[in-house]
Amino acid sequence: MKKHSIPYGKQDITTADEQAVLETLRADFLTQGPKIDEFEKAFAEYVGSKYAVALSNGTAALHLCAMALDVQPGDKVITTPITFSASANCVRYCGGEVVFADIEPETFVLDINKVRELLESNPKGTFKGIIPVDFSGYPVDLEAFRKLADEHGLWIIEDACHAPGGYFVDSKGKEQRCGNGTYAELAIFSFHPVKHIAAGEGGMITTNDEALYQKLLMLRTHGITKNPDLLEKNDGGWYYEMQTLGYNYRLTDFQAALALSQLQRADANMLKRKAIAKKYDEAFAGKKLKLQFQAEGFSNAYHLYVIRVENRKGLYDYLRENGIYAQVHYVPVHTMPYYKAFGWKAGDFPKSEDYYSRCLSLPMYPTLTSEEQDFVIEKVLEFTEK
Ligand SMILES: *Cc1c(COP(=O)(O)O)cnc(C)c1O
Repeated sequence: MKKHSIPYGKQDITTADEQAVLETLRADFLTQGPKIDEFEKAFAEYVGSKYAVALSNGTAALHLCAMALDVQPGDKVITTPITFSASANCVRYCGGEVVFADIEPETFVLDINKVRELLESNPKGTFKGIIPVDFSGYPVDLEAFRKLADEHGLWIIEDACHAPGGYFVDSKGKEQRCGNGTYAELAIFSFHPVKHIAAGEGGMITTNDEALYQKLLMLRTHGITKNPDLLEKNDGGWYYEMQTLGYNYRLTDFQAALALSQLQRADANMLKRKAIAKKYDEAFAGKKLKLQFQAEGFSNAYHLYVIRVENRKGLYDYLRENGIYAQVHYVPVHTMPYYKAFGWKAGDFPKSEDYYSRCLSLPMYPTLTSEEQDFVIEKVLEFTEK
């Protein structure tokens, strides 16, 4: 039998993608040029937001969101322990304080009831914002979070890195795409190779708020503007002003070309992810492993396909022996040595920690072949059902 080597996630680069990059390399702009504009417009249209700002990576996107919302030293912001550390770190970049709240045990996303408990057991004004994460591609109920945030005067940054193309149906029966800006001030995406769209590195902020959009454009390029409407004075065509302290968080034009080319396949790839999930669901139904709960009206974008098993380490090792490189998402952020120094400790969030002790992400990417998936299913069941 052919030796397998199956990762948990993988980019898909076509000849059309290669062509798009080559064309841009041969054109006039290497860093931010016309492809950035095109990609931002197409991406905003894809998620259904008014504005989009392309950035060098998802972490830079989170940092600028925290800056645009004016996170100050000591400001308290709530997020989930079950995410990539960057979701929390953006608060720290601005000197703010990260406060974690536990997850829902069956969907693995931030538990709104735990957030409500936190808000109601502290004086009004204690917290500034919430960073919910569409974990694994499962959309957070942002309509409910918006209502809660409004009651307490908080902003929301939706970390939608896992969920381009995911959506939930709100109480008015309307499909709300992840990152469309209806219920959150800002949303962020990543174009790291394991994500739905792979630009090598890359990120995006989407929003419907024009003032935040203008601020983000400036923060992306050192805090500099050339916009005549915003200048304090104008010495001529060359003139620019640095009005605030920003960064160089630009994306290159050839990365934007690569991402834009992949965006054309986003819907087709989503269907493939859903088909892969369905096949896993059917193969694992009634077996000795637990699946993520999928609520009616919540359309998972399936960045990850997560199972929970009792002997997770055993299964992880067994799959590796067979060339299947499953992964664990994530080590809870509050148990990281860096965050432990702020007083967080193992035992603080039982649901997150229980999830972490049993979770495993199985291979999930559009080019996973049917034969490869059969092999993964066979090996998983061989181990769990023995
Ligand atoms: C990938 C990821 C990020 C960070 O994105 P980068 O582009 O790698 O900086 C942030 N949050 C979540 C949930 C992610 O999965």
